[in-house]
Amino acid sequence: MRSFREKCISAYEKAEKERKEAAQKRADEFREAAVREFEKRFSVSVTKSKAVSDYQAELVIQDVNIVARNEGTGIRFFTLRKCNSCDTYFLPRYPNSCETLEDIGRDLTIPVTCGHCRSVMNYLNTKSPGEQVIEKLREILDIVGYSAEGV
Ligand SMILES: [Zn+2]
Repeated sequence: MRSFREKCISAYEKAEKERKEAAQKRADEFREAAVREFEKRFSVSVTKSKAVSDYQAELVIQDVNIVARNEGTGIRFFTLRKCNSCDTYFLPRYPNSCETLEDIGRDLTIPVTCGHCRSVMNYLNTKSPGEQVIEKLREILDIVGYSAEGV
C-alpha cells in the first residue's frame, strides 16, 4: 500500500504534468496564431517557428529572425538581432514593433549593440575627474605652446 507521503507526491506530480501539458498547448496555439498573422501581414511563408510561451514565439523567415509577442494589444513582431560586440541576441528597437517591411529592413541595416555592451562602452568612455583635469591641463599647455609630453 502506498504511504501518505507517496500519495501526496504522486498527486503533485500528476497536477504538475497536466499544468506543463496545458502550458505547452497554449504556447503551440500562440505560435500557430503568430505564424498565421505574420504570413498574412507580410505576405511571406514562415520557414521555421518555435513556441516559447503562451505569449512569445520565435519565427524564422529564410535568414531573418523574428520574435512574436502578445503585448496585450494583439501580436507584435520584433526583429531579433545579434549584438555586434558580444553575439547576444536581443530586440534592438523594443518596445517599438515592426509594422511594415521597411521597419524590419531598418532593423536589419542598422549596426546594433545590446544594452549591456552600450552601458559598458559608456562607462569606458566616461573619463574620471583626474583624467579630465589632465586633459584640461594638456589643452592649456597646448595653448601656451608647451610640449604636453609626460603630463
Ligand atoms: Zn552586447
